[in-house]
Amino acid sequence: MSTSASLIATDIDFERTGFQTGTLRLPYSHDRSAYGHVPIPLAVLNAGAGTGPTVLLTGGNHGDEYEGPVALMKLMQHMPSMTIRGRLIVIPALNFPAFINGTRTSPIDRGNLNRLFPGARNGQPTEMIAHYVETELLPRADVVIDLHAGGASFEHAPALLASPPAERERRALYMDLVREFGAPNTMIMDLLGEDRTMAAAAERHGKLFLCGEFGGHAGCDAANLAIVENGLQRVLRRLGVIPDADTAAARKTRFLRVEGARHYVYAPLPGVFEPAFKLGDQAREGQLAGRLFDPHRPWQAPLDIAFRGDGVVMCVRTLARVEPGDCIALLACETSAD
Ligand SMILES: [Zn+2]
Repeated sequence: MSTSASLIATDIDFERTGFQTGTLRLPYSHDRSAYGHVPIPLAVLNAGAGTGPTVLLTGGNHGDEYEGPVALMKLMQHMPSMTIRGRLIVIPALNFPAFINGTRTSPIDRGNLNRLFPGARNGQPTEMIAHYVETELLPRADVVIDLHAGGASFEHAPALLASPPAERERRALYMDLVREFGAPNTMIMDLLGEDRTMAAAAERHGKLFLCGEFGGHAGCDAANLAIVENGLQRVLRRLGVIPDADTAAARKTRFLRVEGARHYVYAPLPGVFEPAFKLGDQAREGQLAGRLFDPHRPWQAPLDIAFRGDGVVMCVRTLARVEPGDCIALLACETSAD
């Protein structure tokens, strides 16, 4: 073993054909368990090398987002009887300590997995997970789908997040997958130099990467879950992994783009926020977004907060209590696919 090889071990043999379940053993030596590890569950269905692409499906990158993990746990129920081509690697809760704790970040090290790539072999547990994804999982994958939602602090309109590759041929397949997923909304994302996310890691490895936000407030919404499940089926069918999938045709997706600072609404002061909008509204520049009350001086007039640009409200804060710098809303403008 080279010194750069991950310290996370598994009994899963990714090259073996057939269906396997098991865990990734994340070493975690602590007061209650000196030689302990955190078992991160996964399932692999492999039709054999050369039969088709490897698709890596992950949820629980953040621990308080549930539609993805539920969709993947449901998929696992069918995997033993599925006939596929290629290989499916399914991990419903990638940051498992965070998922079991029901929080965005890990209770062990406060690690936000999606800001810790490429991770570290000898790092904190969350960094070790990122390092395993970077060194063991991404190299094996052709297509990666990482399922998110807004978490406890956000409600997100169901949206696939797409960062289309520049190269023409890969871009054509990528946009095909986006249309096949058929989310009501597709937000075209620019990585903007952020290289700590799983999206950036997948890009480094030259893999096709899709992620998405499907709900929020740390709940599991039935309609958003259906969007995820149907979208996954159609993408897997398009990739030839489950060529016989019987899934309704994709509905046309609406393409949107977040255009910088003007699309974000932030709290400038601490307080209690009264919104003047709801998810999905079309907002206009200068329009009242809401009022911020000072609970220590409730008799004082609230501070009016205005939208700084035009756009559809795609994401809203679920918690009325705010501190300076908290994001209250995120807008996006309709755009063409290119
Ligand atoms: Zn997330």
